[in-house]
Amino acid sequence: MAQSIADRRDVDFVLYEQLEAENLVKLDRYKELNKKMFDMVVTEARNFAIKEILPLNEEGDKIGLTFENNQVIVPECFHRPFKLFREGEWIAMNEDPEVGGQGFPHLITQACMEYIMGADFSFSAFGMVCHGAAKMIELFGTEKQKALFLKKVYSGEWGGSMVLTEPEAGSDVGALTTSAVKNSDGTYSISGNKIFITCGEHNMQDNIIHPVLARIEGAPAGTKGISIFIVPKIWVNADGSLGEPNDIV
Ligand SMILES: Cc1cc2nc3c(=O)[nH]c(=O)nc-3n(C[C@H](O)[C@H](O)[C@H](O)COP(=O)(O)OP(=O)(O)OC[C@H]3O[C@@H](n4cnc5c(N)ncnc54)[C@H](O)[C@@H]3O)c2cc1C
Repeated sequence: MAQSIADRRDVDFVLYEQLEAENLVKLDRYKELNKKMFDMVVTEARNFAIKEILPLNEEGDKIGLTFENNQVIVPECFHRPFKLFREGEWIAMNEDPEVGGQGFPHLITQACMEYIMGADFSFSAFGMVCHGAAKMIELFGTEKQKALFLKKVYSGEWGGSMVLTEPEAGSDVGALTTSAVKNSDGTYSISGNKIFITCGEHNMQDNIIHPVLARIEGAPAGTKGISIFIVPKIWVNADGSLGEPNDIV
């Protein structure tokens, strides 16, 4: 079998000899950190990847996903490691502590993710889509959206996704036909079909926050007219608790 866990000497070479990662601690943003902490967290990521995630690779392929009662069921062996992954706060380790991150440099995060992804890319995808969806909300969301979703998605308590592709709109994403119509309460009703959505449906997290690409009625054709909507799998009440299932099939 090919070696999927990176050689630590290669990782250290890239971090410290090629990219001189220890210089990052000279920046004000990382002044509380040091090389010992970088080494410790990379070692921990490697140990976690080998012990908890690597065994999933084969089991995940052998067991696979199933679809029961309108829900995608992830193999049972994924659930405990994913809980540990969340509790270890790996998903947002490069984000600011105010939004639930650990404040590590992106470079050190990538060294850690090299191990997590190498151990089982499918497993790592559950974290990646949380990070991507939360980052989008952090950068472009309203204060209300941030308060409702940010920490829960960055922490991995709730999942994320990226919902672009349609049967007739892949590379040419501007050809999408999913439409959004404004309701009187300011929300939008969205209709359309999406395909190939990574972690788009599963039972590993209590909710999934989908950023969905759609065109508001009357918006221009092509990519110019595309908007992104936050579509929760389960509606979220104003106090952050979970409500009724949304109308997503
Ligand atoms: C593992 C996996 C995970 C994915 N996860 C997601 C996800 O999370 N969310 C999501 O929205 N989508 C996801 N996708 C879908 C992905 O974004 C699309 O597959 C991709 O955009 C390509 O679209 P398509 O499959 O319709 O192929 P097409 O766009 O139909 O392309 C088919 C072929 O035509 C070629 N081609 C296309 N346009 C041109 C052109 N103008 N000139 C020359 N050649 C061209 C392409 O290179 C390709 O070889 C995922 C796909 C995969 C395989």
